[in-house]
Amino acid sequence: MKIALIFPDQLSNKSYLFLNLESYDQIILFEPLDNFYEIPHHKQKIAFLISSLRHIKQEINHPNIKHEKIIKDHPGLIKFLNNQNEIEPITSIDTVQPSDHKILRDLLFFSQTNSIELNVHNDSKFIAKLEDFEYWSKDKKSLIQEFYYRWLRKKYNILMNDNEPAGGQWNFDKENRKSIKQLKDEIPKRNSLKTDKETFDVMVDVETSFPDAFGSLENFNWAVTRSDAKLKLKEFISSYLFNYGNFQDAMSKDSSLLFHSLISPYLNNGLLCPMEAIDLVELEYKNNQAPINAVEGFVRQILGWREFIRGIYWKYMPQYKTLNFFDTKTKLPEFYWNAETDMYCMHKAISDTKEYAYSHHIQRLMVTGNFALIAGLNPQKVCDWYLGVYIDAHEWVELPNTLGMALFADGGIVGSKPYAASGKYINRMSNFCKDCKYDVNTIIEDDSCPMNFMYWNFLISRENILRKNPRMSLIYNSLDKKDDLFKSKVQAKSKIFIKDIT
Ligand SMILES: Cc1cc2nc3c(=O)[nH]c(=O)nc-3n(C[C@H](O)[C@H](O)[C@H](O)COP(=O)(O)OP(=O)(O)OC[C@H]3O[C@@H](n4cnc5c(N)ncnc54)[C@H](O)[C@@H]3O)c2cc1C
Ligand code: SF4
Repeated sequence: MKIALIFPDQLSNKSYLFLNLESYDQIILFEPLDNFYEIPHHKQKIAFLISSLRHIKQEINHPNIKHEKIIKDHPGLIKFLNNQNEIEPITSIDTVQPSDHKILRDLLFFSQTNSIELNVHNDSKFIAKLEDFEYWSKDKKSLIQEFYYRWLRKKYNILMNDNEPAGGQWNFDKENRKSIKQLKDEIPKRNSLKTDKETFDVMVDVETSFPDAFGSLENFNWAVTRSDAKLKLKEFISSYLFNYGNFQDAMSKDSSLLFHSLISPYLNNGLLCPMEAIDLVELEYKNNQAPINAVEGFVRQILGWREFIRGIYWKYMPQYKTLNFFDTKTKLPEFYWNAETDMYCMHKAISDTKEYAYSHHIQRLMVTGNFALIAGLNPQKVCDWYLGVYIDAHEWVELPNTLGMALFADGGIVGSKPYAASGKYINRMSNFCKDCKYDVNTIIEDDSCPMNFMYWNFLISRENILRKNPRMSLIYNSLDKKDDLFKSKVQAKSKIFIKDIT
């Protein structure tokens, strides 16, 4: 029997499998992803993925669909395939490049052991192919996202005027850093989507199969059909894109979502096509409806970062997952799960995560990620948390972002220096600190902001590794101006603080 195996994040209607359904004897829709059972997941993430798959099932016109649903203790993909093979021998499996390396490895093992043909097709929810990244990255000493982005802009003629970048420069990042304190406009309220019967049934299945999962389904407002995902993209373009660039790095206690697009879940499960989003946003620029810093900023995230991150994942796996550049071992503090901490910034980012299965990029990078970096949390534990709690998390994108960008645990493959920051950065970009029990303006007092003393402690404790990095020289110059008493106080305060929270 020739089977097509479809996972919940492989719903792109341009996928080889969707375009060739008639060539298979059976279509398998496989809901119970192994990682749902291996690490704690947010209920909304499971519900979103499963409901999207069940909605797309209606598009699949085939007489023989096997729908494997989530249950409380699923035996796993390989046991399932073994059973299927016993019921009716499988001759070939066609699937799209899976989202994580382990699934691909398991499928290879299963097919080789059972002499079954395995055909892994290109994943059409990306713009470039993996071979494009291979070609571009070949012979390069270091891989820099900005150059891959420029290469793709030229290749696909996006935001280009002949050979020149639109607006006269490639990157408007410097114009994307306004603090929330500079915001004068109201942030429009997001439209609510109705939960239909299919999604409601999925929610019941999620509660039954994963009763102890993280978060709740109460605020579920995610699109689960192609048409609703498109509506959400249009809502972003009409109400949020204009300010997207300016306040991309800002954080607010009054708005969790700010001007972000919230389309990552749909790009990552295939409900939306990345080029469709880019084309619509570019059109706004061409029609003078949106400024270049917003449009370029958005295009860079999707064409630059998203494509680059995926290339990194497949180039460096499976070793990448085990990297731990600073050899850190501290376990994840309990407040990553319950949000119970006096650090307002951490409390806010984690409560948003619990409520929406979402927090925006700067909260992920400069709050929860920064804390994990400067507190020396173990990268693999931190990665498991990010993979489980975010609606858009799949290993190909979560891992290079967390382990590489946020934790520098890859030693500089994704970024050229750690994104370590003190409370000063958080105070500049947000309105959090005035509601915090801690004092952001001091470092070694009794009530000093932990981000401050842990930041300095991070620099001191990693000095032998980081001082030689030329991009850290200014920072180490400021450390050189501190006296020994200061250094011993930040070290002592950090030690006590980390001991208390773990
Ligand atoms: C520690 C950490 C973990 C992350 N984990 C994930 C993850 O599991 N899944 C995920 O999709 N993104 C992840 N990101 C990247 C980014 O934070 C999210 O893509 C973004 O917050 C999604 O929200 P949005 O759609 O509103 O994004 P917007 O700000 O509106 O950006 C538009 C789109 O650009 C893409 N994008 C932006 N930044 C990145 C990036 N660094 N890598 C890949 N794509 C990007 C996304 O598809 C996003 O939808 C992570 C970032 C960090 C720092
Ligand atoms: S004072 Fe420090 S811990 Fe408190 S919100 Fe500001 S940065 Fe976060």
